[in-house]
Amino acid sequence: SVRDRRISHAQLFFGPEGAGALPLAIAYAQYISCTGIKDEDACGKCPSCLKYAKLVHPDLHFLFPVNNTASKKEDPYCDDFLSEWRAFVLQHPYARLNDWYLYIELENKQGLIKEKESDAISKKLSFKSFESDFKIAIIWMAEKMHEVASNKLLKLLEEPPEMTVFLLITENPEILLTTIRSRCFPVKVPLIAADDMTEALQSRHQLEASQSASVARLAIGNYARAAELIRENEEDGFQLATFREFMLAGFMNNIGSGMKTVEALSALTREKQKAFLDYSLRMIRENAVKQIRNSSLNYMNLMEEEFSVNFSKFIKGSNVVPLTEEFNKAAYDIERNGNSKIVLFDLMLKAGKLLRR
Ligand SMILES: [Zn+2]
Repeated sequence: SVRDRRISHAQLFFGPEGAGALPLAIAYAQYISCTGIKDEDACGKCPSCLKYAKLVHPDLHFLFPVNNTASKKEDPYCDDFLSEWRAFVLQHPYARLNDWYLYIELENKQGLIKEKESDAISKKLSFKSFESDFKIAIIWMAEKMHEVASNKLLKLLEEPPEMTVFLLITENPEILLTTIRSRCFPVKVPLIAADDMTEALQSRHQLEASQSASVARLAIGNYARAAELIRENEEDGFQLATFREFMLAGFMNNIGSGMKTVEALSALTREKQKAFLDYSLRMIRENAVKQIRNSSLNYMNLMEEEFSVNFSKFIKGSNVVPLTEEFNKAAYDIERNGNSKIVLFDLMLKAGKLLRR
């Protein structure tokens, strides 16, 4: 266990994307900094643990890849992104490098741990710790260190400042300098076992047992992928609910409820309106496959399957092509800045008529 191990001043946490090397390193840092009564785990209640819960402990330092963004244009330090970093890690502990880049809107640039960061961290660690016995430096995606930064870090690892623990995290240990690797105690972080993931998904995301088991199966041990699948599911749930309202209002020729749905859709961005039309086209296609070819070879999730038991009865050889044409035409008009309300309302009436055919 963690407690039995002597605290090594440099440790390398490595494992594949989504395995959770970062949350593990943070938990370990919290554990060795905890000043309360701890056994196998940090106490969660002492002043140190409370600061760790917000990642604001003064003896906890982070390095991570950054670059210029629209709001931070002038060769920023990691510290310039510290509040974004804390919010990001607290929200998405298992997140991937690209999720971070999206979060800070790096656009197409790559992040880097720059040369000047090694001087900055070296200076911070040269002071005595503020509150904890240890000063801890967590270096996320250590393979993103600039070569000069790597060499300076190596010097620090060779002659570490007093009471300092370096926790390096990487998905690609083979890219790190061998001299750095050989200085670090290796901590391998494996992918998450299906049972553990199922349990975690159930408690963290309030999924039902069968649903979390199927997400866990699809994510193959990658928690970041699991979280993404859940987001996609929620997105599909929204699309399906809207599609159902839209088609039902059209079918019933219910102008009042149709207008409400159309107004809600028109309030979205054009991108999202397009996404709804793409989703609708997919549902029409899947239901046609289900009904006309009586095939079980379709690509619907459980919710969509349930919806389609009835809906597919209204999709026939005679209306599937005109329906597809109408939705495509609407997508074309929306893309060319047609008036969304008019385009979508018209589409709803036409689709309803075709469904009644
Ligand atoms: Zn504690």
